Amino acid sequence: MNKWEENIREVEPYVPGEQPQEKDVIKLNTNENPYPPSPKVFEAHRGMEIGRFALYPDPCATELVHALEDYYGLDRGQVFVGVGSDDVLSLAFLTFFNSGKPILFPDVTYSFYPVWAQVYRIPYECPPLDAHFRICPEDYQRENGGVVIANPNAPTSIGMPLDQLEEIIQTNQDVIVIVDEAYVDFGGDTALPLLDRYENLLIVRTYSKSRSLAGMRIGFAMGSKRLIQALTSVKESINSYTMTMESICLGTASLEDEGYFRSCLDKIITTRDRIKAELEKRGFICLDSLTNFLFVRHKERSGEHLFNELRKKKIFVRHFGGERIREYLRISIGTEEQMDRLLEALDEI
Ligand code: PMP
Repeated sequence: MNKWEENIREVEPYVPGEQPQEKDVIKLNTNENPYPPSPKVFEAHRGMEIGRFALYPDPCATELVHALEDYYGLDRGQVFVGVGSDDVLSLAFLTFFNSGKPILFPDVTYSFYPVWAQVYRIPYECPPLDAHFRICPEDYQRENGGVVIANPNAPTSIGMPLDQLEEIIQTNQDVIVIVDEAYVDFGGDTALPLLDRYENLLIVRTYSKSRSLAGMRIGFAMGSKRLIQALTSVKESINSYTMTMESICLGTASLEDEGYFRSCLDKIITTRDRIKAELEKRGFICLDSLTNFLFVRHKERSGEHLFNELRKKKIFVRHFGGERIREYLRISIGTEEQMDRLLEALDEI
């Protein structure tokens, strides 16, 4: 080994779900939305002046930030935007978890959290979910350097009622609590009503799931002005121009079509509930989902076997290796047709 190699930061990266190059794959592995973005987004894209791409975008992404503040009824200075919620969460870890004490998040949750903790050298502890994969609020009542809760949780798909979430925030007012609401639009309880009461609460959202814009990479955080200011200062110390002109413009346009947004959510929720019942008829145990995916295990067939067999039939779902969830598959909700193909494939298997 060369001496200089000792200076390299060693990390074990997060592995995202596969993005296959073939066109004929049914892709139910990364919780994207199966429906296209709103027609307003198409229209806004057609109206973009490509000539302006010669200039830098607005470093504050003011148009998008103001549109989000208005949409959620917040004051100016309460929204921060980033390159997908992964960017926002990563910056939040860097900005808010500097006490040297371990931060807390569940043992089964979004597997990027331990990766950010490692890359930023933040100690962490992972209270286990209970036997039914539920978060136990009492586990978060010990000394810590911050708390991160995905609600609904991923990959379990389970939502936590607001009173239990508030118990965690209430008992952790000396640290910053991040609530990752990537999937909340599909039926979860949002922590938004708590923002007025807890200055240490940061809510993180994404355009990648409910808004059909994963490819645009738009995420945002909502919180007190103090938290948003702190995030902005760190972001401006790393990269002034994170949001492209396209993401600012299309992200703003997406908020102008509430009817389309709601109708896509309704379709996905209806499909989810139908497919859950169909899978149960076929011997699957499905956790109660408040997201755009189902977390399921078969009573007789192993998770790995089903994952591989579906893959051979060009249906991609997600299988995680962790000890408690090895037998489970995470299946994103696609269109009705895609989900019928999944059921047919499972029957053949
Ligand atoms: N949080 C959770 C819980 C997720 O599942 C995901 C999607 N992988 C993200 C955040 C990040 O999504 P994005 O960066 O596309 O906004």
